[in-house]
This record gives sequence, structure tokens and C-alpha cells, in this order.
Amino acid sequence: MEYQTVIGLEIHARINSKTKMFCRCDNGIFDEQPNMHVCPICMGFPGMLPVTNQEAIKKGVKAALALGCEIKEFSKFDRKSYFYPDLPKGFQISQYDKPISENGSITITLADGTTKPIRIERLHLEDDAGKLIHTAGGSLVDFNRSGTPLMEIVSAPDMNSLEEASAYARQIQKIVRYVNASDADMEKGQMRFDLNISLRPKGQKELGVKVEIKNLNSFRSLEKAIGYEIRRQDELLENNGQIVQETRGWDDEKGLTVTQRTKEGAADYRYFPEPDIPPLVITREMIQALKKEIPELADAKAERYRTKMKLPGDIARQLAADALLADYFEKAVEVSGAAKKTANWILSELTGLLNEKGLTVGGSNLSPQNLGKLVRLIEEGVITGKIAKDIFIEVAEGDLDPEKFVEEKGLKVMSDTGELEGVCKGVIDRNPEIVASFREGKEKALGALVGQVMAATKGSANPKAVNEILKKIIS
Ligand SMILES: [Zn+2]
Repeated sequence: MEYQTVIGLEIHARINSKTKMFCRCDNGIFDEQPNMHVCPICMGFPGMLPVTNQEAIKKGVKAALALGCEIKEFSKFDRKSYFYPDLPKGFQISQYDKPISENGSITITLADGTTKPIRIERLHLEDDAGKLIHTAGGSLVDFNRSGTPLMEIVSAPDMNSLEEASAYARQIQKIVRYVNASDADMEKGQMRFDLNISLRPKGQKELGVKVEIKNLNSFRSLEKAIGYEIRRQDELLENNGQIVQETRGWDDEKGLTVTQRTKEGAADYRYFPEPDIPPLVITREMIQALKKEIPELADAKAERYRTKMKLPGDIARQLAADALLADYFEKAVEVSGAAKKTANWILSELTGLLNEKGLTVGGSNLSPQNLGKLVRLIEEGVITGKIAKDIFIEVAEGDLDPEKFVEEKGLKVMSDTGELEGVCKGVIDRNPEIVASFREGKEKALGALVGQVMAATKGSANPKAVNEILKKIIS
């Protein structure tokens, strides 16, 4: 039988606020010594009172708006009970039946260019647990991560393939980064995935039995886990086996999923309203103000570059994918007035130079204005593309004004035809043999003469004009 895969994703992204969700401890905790950023609140001492971090709330709202969610003017926090050694309170503070936002949607683009909307059921806020470190001598606990702010983004089961799920996860990462709500760096544990996956006979409406795979912490393991589960469930169903509703773990080394526990229901968490935190009220004014802070998102930007600036689709997407790169590009175009050529210079010469040094556009010495000026000089025919490439590194390293640089070094294209004719005549006079072989029909001989004129003018002549002048004089 043919089966259809149905996938839903829960994505946890760490909000990049300065401090933790309910205390003032530092939230920038990667690579730190264990237990450096802790206090009685995030260590769960009895009697401590949590205080909601306004910055984290605002960032969560911005992310929710960028995902097209409705923001709830009234929401509340709840206790979700677990008993783990790295959760000192004995519960996580999360949002259960009244999340801060619901009913969003984003559009994903697949490799073949087709697009598909994926619904988002909710984005809610919560705090994270600490971390256990297992050593030969026993297990250690690090509370640096305890109480750090998270947003959990829950999709509807709208994805039907590995490719769709992967595109969705990457798109979420792009969006939360774009609104600066999360750095979403997977290597630093700032984003992780829980995957729900089931198979159903093609054409059947009812969903199959779903399996949950928790804590996938890279795109690679997400993709491999999906591939593995599709094969495992398909094989089971084909052999009249039964899928068990359960939580499975991903074993990255072996490349397979293993049973962890049969699925808990909401009742197992014994949710109840958090008595120490007042309900969250977000006014319409606040929502309006935060809406204004949301920048144009990558997809809209790419579309604008494609339609208004006439850039090819892949170049438009490449520039728009990175907010800093897009900003650099737009500032440079303002000066150059030539979108396509500017895009090419940024993606080839500038990116090449930065890559060599392991930098991104944020670390570029060359200002977008000066890059724009350089492109304009080529566009206006003041210098040749070759000269521009020759001087690029020097201009870029020192962030020099290309106009002044070209003027000082005398690199302008020789626009005075009389002067250029003079140089051409000189070259012809000095090379009677080459001239003779050209006259005998050896077209290539002309190239040697052009080369000499270019050398004599230090590359500042327009090669096309030189060609024409030489031909005219010789014939
Ligand atoms: Zn703390």
C-alpha cells in the first residue's frame, strides 16, 4: 500500500534577551563555567518569587507576529510538573491553555520552486531546565541554562515529506533571527526540535498513530530521524505490524530511533496556573508598537529584489537571506544605481575577500557606500571592469574612496580619442612585423597590438575602442 507521511514540528528557540525569563541572571551562557549564572530563583529555592522579563516577552511577541500569529491580549503561565534532577523547581513554567499567541502561518519554498503554507498552531513562552553532565565518577548538574527563556513554536501536522519539514525548520530559524528574537544557533543549543511523525494510507483522512521524537539538535539529525522513521513505520505497516504511540529517542551514532517511553498525556504533567506570576496582559498599543519594529522579512525582500530591482531569483534570495547582507546591498545600490552589477560585486569580489579571512559582511572594512561608488565608476565608463578588479583589494582593505583613488592614480578610461589615437599610432610604428602579419590576414596579431596599447595606458583605455582605432589606422 502507498502511505502518506504526516509531520508536525515543535521548535524550541532560546530568546536572546539579556537576562533569564524570571530572574536577572545573565542569559548569555554558552561556553561558560558551570553554575556561574545562577541565583535562588533559577535554582528553585523555596519561597523565591519569579519576575517576568519584559524584554523576553517583547521578543516573543515579535517572533509571533513575524510568524503571522494572533497575539492574545490576555495569557497566563502554568506549572508543568516533571521530576528531573536538572529541574530544581520540580516544574517548568510554561503556557498551557492560554498561550501568548495562536493561529499563524508561514510559506515554505521547496527546491523545485513550489511553495506551500504551513500553519502554526501556537507560539508560547516558557523557561528551560538545567543540564546534566554525565562523567565516570557520577552525574553533575549545571544550572546555567536553568530558567533561560524559550519560545516553543508548534506547527500543525501540515508537512508531508522530509524536504518540507526541513524547509520549514530552516525558515523558522531564518525568521526568528530576522526579528532578532533568537540567535537560533543550533551548535550552541539555542534551537532544538521535537518531531511528530505518522503514516496513513494515501487518501485516508484520519491520521495514523503518531510517534514523537524528542530533542533533535541539528538539521542533520532532524532529517536523518525523519528518513529513518518513515522507513521503520512503512516496514511495520507493510508487515501488518502495529505502530505504538510513544516517545522515541534519536541515537545519532547508530542512526536510528529507540523507544523511550509511551507517550504522556497532558494529565501526566498536572498543569495548573502558576500562582506566583500574574496573568500577562499585552495591550493593543504594545502590539502596534512592536509591529512597527518588525523589519521586512526575507521572503518579501527577495520578492522585491526580483520584481522591482530585476535581480534573478536565486541572487535575490541569497542576498535577502541574511539581514546584514541585504542591508549592505541596499545601501550600496543607493550609491551605484545599478542593482545587478552591485549584487554581483557583493556576492563575488566582496564575499570572496571576506571568506578568505573567515569574515561575514558585518566584518567588512569596505563601506557599502564605497563599494557603490566603485560600481558606479564602472557603470559610467570612468574605469574599466578590469581596473576595478585590480584596485579592489586595496580599496576594500582601506575603505578608500574609489573616485579619489582613481583620480590620484590616473586610472580613468582615456576618453580623449585624440590622445588614444596617438598611443595607437606609436604602437603601430614600433611593431611593423606584427602589423604586416595582421595585414596578411592573421586576425590574432591585432590582439598583441591591443595588449601593448593597454600596457602603455596602464589599462585605462577601453579595449573595444582601442580595437576599432587600431583597425582603422592599419587598414
Ligand atoms: Zn537566576
